[in-house]
Amino acid sequence: MEKKFIDILGQRYPISYVDCVNKEEPRKGEINFLTHEIRIDSTMPEDLQQQTLLHEVLHAIGDSLGIEELVNNEGTVQSLATALYCTFKNQIIPRK
Ligand SMILES: [Zn+2]
Repeated sequence: MEKKFIDILGQRYPISYVDCVNKEEPRKGEINFLTHEIRIDSTMPEDLQQQTLLHEVLHAIGDSLGIEELVNNEGTVQSLATALYCTFKNQIIPRK
């Protein structure tokens, strides 16, 4: 199991790429708001793993900033994750 970290708003979140995210319920990824651990299904294609990580990052931002919509509304979070992924997939932010 490969372990990495991502810094989100000054907090360190460990990322685990695992064969099975949740034994009770099939999931692409999940985040634990207490331990800050993010788990991503490593058996998915790479682009889906990245989209899933963005999804979990949005949950983390919601939790950090107290934006309940980003904590509890899976539809909103998934739509934003997909939109951000598609926006940045093939380009970087233009600079002056
Ligand atoms: Zn979610």
